[in-house]
Parts: sequence; structure tokens; C-alpha cells
Amino acid sequence: MGACVKYTLKEAKVKIGKSKVEIKRALIREFNKFIRNRDGGVCISCGKACEKGDAGHFIPSTKQGTRFNEYNVNVQCVSCNRYQHGNLSGYAVGLLRKYPELINGMNVIEYLHSIKNNSVSKAEMETLLEKYKNLNKGILFSIYTK
Ligand SMILES: [Zn+2]
Repeated sequence: MGACVKYTLKEAKVKIGKSKVEIKRALIREFNKFIRNRDGGVCISCGKACEKGDAGHFIPSTKQGTRFNEYNVNVQCVSCNRYQHGNLSGYAVGLLRKYPELINGMNVIEYLHSIKNNSVSKAEMETLLEKYKNLNKGILFSIYTK
């Protein structure tokens, strides 16, 4: 008689691993948290203080190549992000002011456009998820030890 191996649903999930969709969902959560911690409460588009800002994209989040790029995502006030279609003219000025350095010989806006159509693999998302989980732990730790 052959051995019958039974797995619980939880064990089966561990064996299969998380799906790309699940990893992406977790990554969005950790990445946006990182952006909010990094930027504090100042809107990149209008410069106003905003206590609970959004993590707003310059190039829309539908473009995978810039979806999790730190230059492309910055805190925005709710007014700019949700009611002024991202206030992109203000966002462009804010980006050039915040990141004046050249990246691969391009200004930040040219650079983001040059990579926006890149794809991001599941393995790359897993690496990013670990990175931002760890960064968020570090940031939280430094707040609590002050
Ligand atoms: Zn704003």
C-alpha cells in the first residue's frame, strides 16, 4: 500500500509559496509605509504640510518599471493626489527640487520615463519586499529609541 500524505491547507500554502499578487499586495503596503516614514508630512506638489498624506506616483502606478521606484513615489496631500489628478506640474517642480542630481546622466524626470516600461519579476518583488520590511523595522526602531 502506498503512503498517504496529507497536508493541511496552511502547510500546502507554505509549500507552494505566495503568489505574485500576494507579494505585490504586501510590497505595496510596505513600500508606501516606507515613503510616508521617509517624507514625513510635506506634499511634494504644493509644499503644504499634510499629516496623513498619500504615497503619490508621478508616473502612474500602472507602469511597473516605476511602481516601486523611490524617486517616483513621494508623499502628497490628499487635495493634490486625489482632487487635482496628482497636481503633476507641481509634482515635476517638486521632483527636480528634491532630487537635483543626475541619474545615469538624466534628470529625475527623464530617468523615470526611461525605466517606466521595464517589467518587475516575482523574484525582484520578493527582494524589494524584504528590503522595505527591514527598512520599516529600522525606522520604527529608531523612533522608539529616541
Ligand atoms: Zn499638495
